[in-house]
Amino acid sequence: MGADRPRVLIVDDERSNISILGNLLQDECDVIVATDGEGALRRATADGQAVPDLILLDVMMPGMDGYEVCRRLKEVPETRDIPVIFITAMGAEEDEASGLRIGAVDYVTKPFSPAILKMRIRTHVELKRLRDHWQRLSTIDALTQVANRRRFDETLEVAWRHASRQEEPLALIMVDVDHFKAYNDHYGHPAGDDCLRRVAAALSAEVRRAGDLFARYGGEEFACLMPAVDVDGAETVARRMCAAVRGLHVRHEHPAVMGNLSISVGVAAVIPSCSQGSEVLVREADRQLYAAKNSGRNRLCAGTMGGRD
Ligand SMILES: [Mg+2]
Repeated sequence: MGADRPRVLIVDDERSNISILGNLLQDECDVIVATDGEGALRRATADGQAVPDLILLDVMMPGMDGYEVCRRLKEVPETRDIPVIFITAMGAEEDEASGLRIGAVDYVTKPFSPAILKMRIRTHVELKRLRDHWQRLSTIDALTQVANRRRFDETLEVAWRHASRQEEPLALIMVDVDHFKAYNDHYGHPAGDDCLRRVAAALSAEVRRAGDLFARYGGEEFACLMPAVDVDGAETVARRMCAAVRGLHVRHEHPAVMGNLSISVGVAAVIPSCSQGSEVLVREADRQLYAAKNSGRNRLCAGTMGGRD
């Protein structure tokens, strides 16, 4: 299975239709199949495997029909963006219109021309991959290749609402590279960029849970969002981050520093209440970060909301 081969899910209750389409596509696609609606939904979420790049969907099937399958796929974030092409004998104009209305990208009536169908499939797979690519780029920081501020802001809102519903804590680590302006002044911006890349890689390597998000917050600031973690748990990670940057042994020989590069860190955690906005968590982590800066840098300060320092 080549990684570049598109993964196409064929859904049809008639085996003969599946083999016609399968034979048509097998030289350029990895084909998976389902023979009813429930099977299609299971295959589309793929048991932890990659979701399909495209679904060819029969309309008339016993039990759940193709329209219902498509509707359900469009309801769920994980499957919403998979392009669906209906392939059906139902050629009436209103059938086609309703197929497109519920979100299919194309509607092909039988009998179809294999060559034309193949080209349409190619086009839709290419468009889908292009969209995936742009979506990835729009959430990644170009310099450091970690998540960008936009992704952080979006994730914070989702995590905040989730924590509020679950009555779970949400922790935030804010990191600032010490004397970074002096570093840029002393070594120049290309070296400063390189330094930020190394720091970002070292910090993100300490973020190991799948649900955590590490992002560049702006300039020489980084942030790590940790759902269902209290202040002590986040502090443990923050200590590892400080040690990781120390372990880089990046020299900082600006006269005002004369030592190794270090970071200051602020840690905060809160169990959100619905009356508060997520900015209270950011404000508290910022407050802790400034406390770390003001008490001499190269250290971390942690606190729960309105609680201990
Ligand atoms: Mg059928």
